[in-house]
Amino acid sequence: ATPTAVMVATGVGASQGVLIKGGQALESAQKVDCIVFDKTGTLTIGKPIVVNTRLFKNMVLREFYDYVAAAEVNSEHPLAKAVVEHAKNFHSEETHIWPEARDFISVTGHGVKAKISDSSVIVGNKSFMLSLDIDVPVEASEILMEEEEKAHTGIIVAMDQEIVGIISVSDPIKPNAHEVISYLKSMKVECIMVTGDNWGTANAIGKEVGIENIIAEAKPEQKAEKVKELQLSGKTVAMVGDGINDSPALVAANVGMAIGAGTDVAIDLSRKAFFRIRMNYVWALGYNIIGIPIAAG
Ligand code: ADP
Ligand code: MG
Repeated sequence: ATPTAVMVATGVGASQGVLIKGGQALESAQKVDCIVFDKTGTLTIGKPIVVNTRLFKNMVLREFYDYVAAAEVNSEHPLAKAVVEHAKNFHSEETHIWPEARDFISVTGHGVKAKISDSSVIVGNKSFMLSLDIDVPVEASEILMEEEEKAHTGIIVAMDQEIVGIISVSDPIKPNAHEVISYLKSMKVECIMVTGDNWGTANAIGKEVGIENIIAEAKPEQKAEKVKELQLSGKTVAMVGDGINDSPALVAANVGMAIGAGTDVAIDLSRKAFFRIRMNYVWALGYNIIGIPIAAG
């Protein structure tokens, strides 16, 4: 590409809220024949809300949510934010102060763990529970499956090594995610979804947006591995993601498209060229930036 073409494209991109890091990104973008999408915050709005709570112990909701929020308030994860927002409903003050959390740890792709009062509180997915030797009864597994079929994420809450409740969270797909995928498919671009979320929810979301090729329960490094595997099979791969958990895959891809607000981490990692897409999806073909805005999330 001529420097002029790159400059023009970069200018067009900027006017659309797209930061294009270097001509190499554009050069590669026109060859992309496969796009890997993250799910949460990329295909979905990324602002999940609590839609249901089930308690297995004799606890009141307010008390339950005090423990959960005390742990989750320390996490940046969208699911954590949803839970804390919901917990606020049980308190009238504008700025409620949650109980103190000690020994807080956050495990990417799994959940959080902290000590609150005298209890060890663990909030996260089933594999997190199993990795911490917490028994997941059939009853709980069934609830998780039901929720997943509805494209909800079931968050498990354990206290002192015992499951005490399940919180159902819904993160709807972006209004025209389906349209974007159809468009890309009509252009013969292969679309793949990789997500850290469970298979049930991932499949349900895949159905809604029209992606059949799905990899769920993927850790950040596994997202990157998938990208590399596709490259080895001869594909030129673009990765679209919004989170820190997408950074390795964004770096591995021929073109990394970091979308949404919290993507400065990804930008800093740019060994390769990055697109920063403030609108939601933008697809670059040759030097024409075709923006397909998906209602701002
Ligand atoms: P995605 O790839 O979909 O953006 P992540 O890798 O960030 O997802 O997380 C994968 C899964 O780990 C989530 O769907 C959730 O089940 C669990 N998880 C991660 N962090 C948290 C948290 N802070 N609270 C509850 N669950 C969490
Ligand atoms: Mg995400």
